[in-house]
Amino acid sequence: MANRNLLSWIEISKKALSHNIKSLAVLSGKSKLAVSVKANAYGHGLLEISGLLINHHEIEYLTVHSFEEAQAARLGGWPRKIMILGPVQANMLEALFDYDIEPVIFEKTTLRNLGSISKRLKKNIRTHLKLETGTNRQGITENELEDFVKIYKRYAYLKKPYGASTHFANIEDTTNHEYAEFQLKNFNRMIKKLASLQMKPTVRHTASSAALILFKKTHFDLVRPGIAMYGHWPSKETIATHLMQGGKNNLFKPLLSWKTRITQLKSVAADEFVGYGCTYRTTKKTRLAVLPVGYYDGYSRALSNHSYVLVGGKRAPLRGRVCMNLMMADVSEIKGVKLGDEVTLIGRSGRDSVSAEQLAGWSNSINYEILSRLGSHIPRIIV
Ligand SMILES: *Cc1c(COP(=O)(O)O)cnc(C)c1O
Repeated sequence: MANRNLLSWIEISKKALSHNIKSLAVLSGKSKLAVSVKANAYGHGLLEISGLLINHHEIEYLTVHSFEEAQAARLGGWPRKIMILGPVQANMLEALFDYDIEPVIFEKTTLRNLGSISKRLKKNIRTHLKLETGTNRQGITENELEDFVKIYKRYAYLKKPYGASTHFANIEDTTNHEYAEFQLKNFNRMIKKLASLQMKPTVRHTASSAALILFKKTHFDLVRPGIAMYGHWPSKETIATHLMQGGKNNLFKPLLSWKTRITQLKSVAADEFVGYGCTYRTTKKTRLAVLPVGYYDGYSRALSNHSYVLVGGKRAPLRGRVCMNLMMADVSEIKGVKLGDEVTLIGRSGRDSVSAEQLAGWSNSINYEILSRLGSHIPRIIV
């Protein structure tokens, strides 16, 4: 195994990725797929995931947050479309033309600057308007639409918005979807207004994973799932609604496992403290495994004394605080543990498992945060 010399590594299952993409393709039907690889592909590794996606021709777009991510994906060999969901600094706008990268526009200065660059280069660019429908994050209000249309009309190379998009505020956090319906109504009204101004966008897109799974009428021409491709449900509410709609629980399989090794084994007497702050005290003679992983790597300090890892399919509870680069687990009850043994931090081991969702629950977070904060320094290995 290539990981024999590694102290901590992340395994990415190619087979699970294919399974999830098949599910996304079935769910999206005739709508095209734009999958999110922002935040280092939700912690899975931008280059590893975009590399695997090249051969999945059902994926038309990668969506990213920043220009730097878009550039990395392009230079890494991604041959199809790339959309930047977040802001682009003024000094990077010209590079969008060079790399054939599509920005999402929510700000007039950016569009004007793109217009003048397009004129100078005599080059077209595909842009997407972000419409404000009720999330009040990035987006153009209905009153501002005409100003944006004027800019499109002023620059021949901009032509019109290639895409028009919005993002829902409240699909994954609730089983009541009135607010999503309200946003959808706003979106449709703004699209109509654009059409009446001779600015009918070629592609309309609104659906993240939860909307893709639960709401067919949000699909339009293109869907933008992220977390589902990595095999995780956006929330408990999303899976509950899906099951209530008669859906199955087998759509998505997690791609990612996170592993480490035992780098020290020690016996500690009863009534001894473990770790910073003396937050744990042994009640009996205890065998501790020291693990070379800590909050720097993305194992939250909030999990101190609140989590378990798996050694040979058996649970070893964390004892004491998670340190910056180390943590301690109690292996007293596990037979035959040896120095160098593999330890599972996220994923399956034998007949047991520990999930990103469990870690999120124990640390007052969500699976998105657990995954996206896995340190980018940890090697990703495709299995
Ligand atoms: C991250 C993101 C998505 C994907 O969301 P998931 O919940 O991971 O499917 C879609 N659209 C926008 C604008 C995003 O920022």
